[in-house]
Amino acid sequence: MSAFFFFSPKQRIVSPKRWVAIFASTLFCIVASLSSLFSSVSAASSSDKGALQVYFVDVEGGQATLFVTPEKQTLLIDTGWPGYDGRDADRIVAAAKNAGVNKIDYVLITHFHEDHVGGAPQLAARIPIGTFIDHGENRESTDKPTVQVWKAYQQLMSTGKYKHILAKPGDPLPIRGMKATIVSADGVVLSDPLPGTGEENSSCKNAEQYPTDQTENRRSVGTLITFGKLRILDLGDLTKDEEMQLMCPKNKLGKIDIYIVSHHGWNQSSSPALVYGITPRVAIMDNGAKKGGTPSVWDIIEKSPGLENLWQLHFSEEGGAAHNVASEFIANLEGTDTGNYLQLTAQPDGRFEVFNSRTQKTQSYPAK
Ligand SMILES: [Zn+2]
Repeated sequence: MSAFFFFSPKQRIVSPKRWVAIFASTLFCIVASLSSLFSSVSAASSSDKGALQVYFVDVEGGQATLFVTPEKQTLLIDTGWPGYDGRDADRIVAAAKNAGVNKIDYVLITHFHEDHVGGAPQLAARIPIGTFIDHGENRESTDKPTVQVWKAYQQLMSTGKYKHILAKPGDPLPIRGMKATIVSADGVVLSDPLPGTGEENSSCKNAEQYPTDQTENRRSVGTLITFGKLRILDLGDLTKDEEMQLMCPKNKLGKIDIYIVSHHGWNQSSSPALVYGITPRVAIMDNGAKKGGTPSVWDIIEKSPGLENLWQLHFSEEGGAAHNVASEFIANLEGTDTGNYLQLTAQPDGRFEVFNSRTQKTQSYPAK
C-alpha cells in the first residue's frame, strides 16, 4: 500500500488514472480491514453463552449430530458406525470437547441401522452418557449387520448404567435450554399438527404414492427442535411413506429454518411434499463421499423456494460436477478423509451461522 505514496523524482505529477488506482486500492484496504473486523465479531458470537451449538460430525455417511444448549446440556442424535478403531466415537468426543462439555446427557438413536447405533458401545467407552432414547425394539431381524449392532446395543443397555426413554410422537424430551419434541417413532407419526401448524400443504396435490418401507428406516425417531424463534428438523432416515403422513394433506410440522436432510440425502427420503412443505432456509446433508447425495434429492432441495444454502458434509461422487454445491459449502472435498465438521451456532432471536471447519469460514444468516 505505502508504495503508492512514494513518488520518484521523475513522477511528481500523478495522472488522473493513477489517482483512480490509488483511490480504489485505498478503498479496498478499508473494506478489507472492516470485513476482517466483522468476521472477528462473528467468531466471538460463536462462543456466545446464550447460543445453541450444533455439530454435524462427519461419520462418513452415517449420522452423529451433537446439540449443546446454553445450559451446556447435550443431545446427540445417533452415534455413527461401529469399527474403524472408534473413529466416529473419537470424532464425537472431539466435538463435545470443542463445545466445552465432558458428558452427553441424552443419546437419541433414530433407528437400529449400523450407521446410526453402531458407534454406541465405543462412544460409551469414551465419554459418560446419561440417557438413551430410542423407538423400542429392532424391527429388522433379517438384516445381519442390524442384528449385530442391535445385540451390542442391548448389551450396553443391560449394564444398567443408563436411563432409558421410549420415544413416542408428541412427547417432549426433558433437555434444558431448547425444546425437543418427538414427531415420529417406530412407524407412527404425530396424530395432530404441532401447535401453530396444520395448514393445507399445496405440494400434496400431485404427490406420488410411496409403498410402505419394510426396514428400520421407516421406524426412525424424528425430532423437531425449537430454540427461540428457530426451528430445526431431524427425521433420521425416515422414508417418504412416513413423510406423507406427517405432511399430507395437512402440514403437521409447519415451516422449518434448518432441515437436517433425512437419510444422508438418499432418494428414499425428502419427498417434494416434505421439503416444499417445510420450506427450509438452510439444509444440511450428512452424506458421505459414496453414500447419499442422490442427484434427484439434491435437485428437490436446491429448487426449494426460499432455500438460502444447502451444505454438505462431503462432496458426493454420485452427484459429480452438476449435483454438488460450491466447495465453500462442503466440509470434505474429494479424495480427502480428514473428518471436517460443520457447526451451526443459533441465537434465540433467529440469527444463526454455519462454520465450515475445513475452510475455517463462517456464513451468517440474519433473523427473519
Ligand atoms: Zn442412515
